[in-house]
Amino acid sequence: MNSLEEIAQLVSSCTQCDLHRGRTHAVPGEGASDAEVMFIGEGPGVQEDRQGRPFVGPAGRFLEDLLASIGLTRRQVYIANMVKCRPPQNRDPLPAEIGACSAYLNRQIELIDPALIVTLGRFSLARFFPGESISRARGRVREKDGRRIYPIMHPAAALYRQEMRSSIEEDFRRIPEILAQSRQQPLVPEAAQEEDQAPPPEQLSLF
Ligand code: SF4
Repeated sequence: MNSLEEIAQLVSSCTQCDLHRGRTHAVPGEGASDAEVMFIGEGPGVQEDRQGRPFVGPAGRFLEDLLASIGLTRRQVYIANMVKCRPPQNRDPLPAEIGACSAYLNRQIELIDPALIVTLGRFSLARFFPGESISRARGRVREKDGRRIYPIMHPAAALYRQEMRSSIEEDFRRIPEILAQSRQQPLVPEAAQEEDQAPPPEQLSLF
C-alpha cells in the first residue's frame, strides 16, 4: 500500500471481515495527506456509511466546531477510524474486526506521519494503550512507538452531556500548544529509529 488513494481503493472492495456485508460505502478516511494532526475515531455511523466519508453526522459537525475553535478545518487534518465499514446498528466493533482492519490504519499512520495523533474515544485509545480507561487517560499527551498520542473523548459521547462537552472542549484547546511543542521537539517514529540503528551494510572488500 503505497498511497492513501491505494488504501481507499483496497478498502472499498475489502472483504476481510464481516462488516463488508452490511456496508453501503466503506469509509477509508479523508484529509490532508501531510496532516500535522491525525484524528482516529471508532467506526462509521449511518451517515458516514451513506456518504463514504468520516464524521459527517452530528458528531462530525461537533468535531468541525471543535476544529474551528482552534483555527483548523477538516481539510487541514486527517480523520480516520479504527474500522472502515459500519458495524450494524452502530454496535461496538469486535476485536476480530479491529484486527482485520488494522493494517489499513497502520499504513495510513505511516504515510501521513503526523506530529500528533488524537484518539477519539476508547477504541482508538486501546490501539495505543490497551486496557486504559478513557476517563483517566484523556487530556494527557504521551509517547508510544515514537509518536505523540493525545487521547480525548469521542465527540459523539459528548454531544448530549454538558460535562463531557466541557472536557472535550478543554482538551481540544490544548492542541495548538501541544503542536507547538511537537515542532520544537520532533519525535522519531519507531520504524525510522530501527532504520537508524540498523548496522551499516557490510563494506565489500577491495581485495
Ligand atoms: S471493516 Fe476493514 S477489514 Fe472489515 S471489511 Fe471493512 S475494510 Fe475490510
